[in-house]
Amino acid sequence: MKTVLITGASRGIGAQTARVFAQAGWQVAVNYNLSASHAHHLVEEIRSAGGTAMDFRADVSDLEQVNRMVKEVQRSLGEIDVLVNNAAIAQQKLFTDITPYDWDRMFDVNVKGVYHCCKAVLPGMLRRHEGCIVNLSSIWGITGGSCEVHYSATKGAVIALTKALAKEVGPSGIRVNCVAPGVIDTEMNQQLDEQALAQLREETPLGIIGSCDQVAKTILFLASQDAGFITGQVISPNGGLVI
Ligand code: NDP
Repeated sequence: MKTVLITGASRGIGAQTARVFAQAGWQVAVNYNLSASHAHHLVEEIRSAGGTAMDFRADVSDLEQVNRMVKEVQRSLGEIDVLVNNAAIAQQKLFTDITPYDWDRMFDVNVKGVYHCCKAVLPGMLRRHEGCIVNLSSIWGITGGSCEVHYSATKGAVIALTKALAKEVGPSGIRVNCVAPGVIDTEMNQQLDEQALAQLREETPLGIIGSCDQVAKTILFLASQDAGFITGQVISPNGGLVI
């Protein structure tokens, strides 16, 4: 049975990705940082549906915690076949209001977190000459989002990291891809009021806000053998908002 480690899987897109992988027969390592009870409930839900899952706490911005988590996952579930770097934070602020702390925390979680997890998981993949990494970016990492300059900058960095790493580890049989969703119905967007959501729907050719399930299934596809010739790519489930 193959094992996937999903960071930030206690809520939102990460939690649904855990469900979708478990339904497809994968062993799922559910990473969380603050939302312990959400992670425990998710693991219980997956187990009661017949799947295999365990939760592991680590703040992805802390390399020691990530190293400890990866060792625990390997001890409990075996080698990690797929890493999904989903954990991230977002914040809406005018550029001039962003503090040095805001800036650093955004990069520590959204970019350094990806670096830490890749650094911890890659040695095993390189040894086995196989593996797959899927990084979560955002349409704002492609187009830039007003009042989200620091978030957009981190998500642009994730795209560049994905492309460079894909070139470096491709010869070792490892694929690295990026999913850059449009607006998805999660707590990350809870600050958007009904008027803002209606406007976004209107601007989106498909006329809908995306679901966690649609993103999760894109991630599962990239992790599957059906995507065996795909690496270094950015796939954007966004309803046509960005083409
Ligand atoms: P949510 O805010 O709903 O959930 C964020 C998840 O990340 C939580 O499980 C949280 O865990 C985890 N997390 C945050 N900080 C850390 C940390 N330091 N260490 C470990 N885990 C952490 O986010 P979404 O589900 O909406 O977003 C998931 C991904 O998709 C992100 O990368 C986001 O940037 C991207 N995305 C989302 C879009 C959207 O519209 N929702 C659009 C485009 C991209 P905990 O609560 O346990 O701390």
